This record gives sequence, structure tokens and C-alpha cells, in this order.
Amino acid sequence: MTPRPLPRPVHPYKDETTPSFIWRLETANILRPGQLRTLLKRNRRPWIESLAAWTNCDPDVLELAMPQFVQPDLDPSLRWKLAGRPTRTTHTVACNRCTLARGAGRFVQIYSTHEQVICPRHRLWLGDGVTGVTDQLSIRDTPEITTAWHHHKNLITRHGRSGVRKAFHIASVINWRWYDRFHHFTAATDTYDALAAKQPRHANSHAIVAASLYPSIVNLTAAMASPHWAEIAHSRRPDLFLDRISAEITDGWHPRGASDPLRHWMTEDWLPGFRGSDTIRPSAPR
Ligand SMILES: [Zn+2]
Repeated sequence: MTPRPLPRPVHPYKDETTPSFIWRLETANILRPGQLRTLLKRNRRPWIESLAAWTNCDPDVLELAMPQFVQPDLDPSLRWKLAGRPTRTTHTVACNRCTLARGAGRFVQIYSTHEQVICPRHRLWLGDGVTGVTDQLSIRDTPEITTAWHHHKNLITRHGRSGVRKAFHIASVINWRWYDRFHHFTAATDTYDALAAKQPRHANSHAIVAASLYPSIVNLTAAMASPHWAEIAHSRRPDLFLDRISAEITDGWHPRGASDPLRHWMTEDWLPGFRGSDTIRPSAPR
């Protein structure tokens, strides 16, 4: 039996995750949580067919909004259209002011790319540590975070997405290890204090620490993603590279010792927990 449209259809939000879309559909139609998911699992048809029928929506429209429903062997023209959109590597909660403005409610979970850490329009933090709408703290009084975000995007233009994503991943691991060991350096402390002063309810949350570390992570990403600086870092005379890091991030301290995470990267090109590309490529991977 073909599923029939539900009384209150829901429009998909761009790059919305499947659980988020199903949750919004259930909530709008006052259904039990998990009720539609149970039906989807019971029906032997592709999920997109049922979702399209319930929402009275063309499957093509759903696929364009939510590329996770597109078959891997899709036609090249559609793949070309979806190039650059996020894969299922990273997800976040979409800016709640943007989702409200577009009639999608306050909570929409979306797949995102690694540089989607702020909403530039509403100046909200959407990056690491944000698991719900209440974690989306305001970055209006800390322009260094928005400046770092522009820098991050420029790095992608200059060095390519793949290299910057790798460098950003390891730069995050390194900055968090330094944070665990030393707490933080001056730049991050100043940003943290400015964020916490206006929004004390966020004090000590993962999101506020992540937002405070972000400018330092981007600075380290810039040094690591640059082929010129990476070559110095991996050479036998890495002093210039270490000088740059100590001047820009670590308050004059030169990372040293076998257990230091940056030195580990310099000697072994360490990349723990890296999950590959975060965007759909124009042609299918071979
Ligand atoms: Zn927004």
C-alpha cells in the first residue's frame, strides 16, 4: 500500500540529516517519537519513496535537499550539481535564527563541512560543542572569531579543501591537547573572558572553550596547510616554524619534548582519527 500524505507536511531543510527530518515530521503531526521510523523499517520500499509520499513532495526535491538519499551510482549531471555539498562526515545544529526565519522551527540538525562553525548573519557559534540550540552562543562581541572564520575560508581557496581539512583536524587535536595540559594561552583566554562575561550560563561549556580556541586552531592550520611552512616544520631545522607558532599561538613558548603533539606531527605526520573528505566530489571516487 502506498503511504498517504500526512496532514502536516514538512519541507526539508538544506543538508538536513535523516533523523532530524523524520523527527520534525513526527512532531508536526503529533506522532509518537520513532513511529515513522518503525514504519520505514517495516516497509520494504526505499525510504525516500515513503518520505516523498508522506510529505507530498517530489523525490527529486528531497534528494536535492538531502543528498544522503542519492544512490552512489547516480548520474554524472546530478553528482555535478551536488558537488561541494557536505557528506555525512560532520553534523551540527543549524543556526536556530535561520531555521526559524525559514519556517523550519528551532531545531534542525544538518550535515556540515568543517569550516561551517559560525552563522555569519546572526553571529552564532555552530561549531565544536554545539549539540543543541542552547549551545549556540553569541560571538557578536568577539570579532576575532569571525576574522578567523574568513581566514579559514581563504585558506581553503588558497591551499585546497583536502589539505586544509587535514591541517584543521590535526591543529584542533594539538590545540585541545595543549589546552588539557596548560589550560590555555593568552589569545584564547581573552576570547574566553569576553564570551563568558556576556554569557555566564555558557561558562566552562565545551562550546565556549571550542569557540575560544578556534582562532588559535585556524592560525596553526595556516602554518600546517602551507607547503612552504610544512616543509620547514618537517626539516632538520624547524626553528623558523616553531618561532612562528610561539609568536602567534603559544605566548613565546617553543613546543618541545617527544610527548608534545605538534612535535609528534613534525616528526611523523600524525593524523589520528581523521575521517576523510567532508564534501561530495564532482565525479564518483574510483
Ligand atoms: Zn543564522
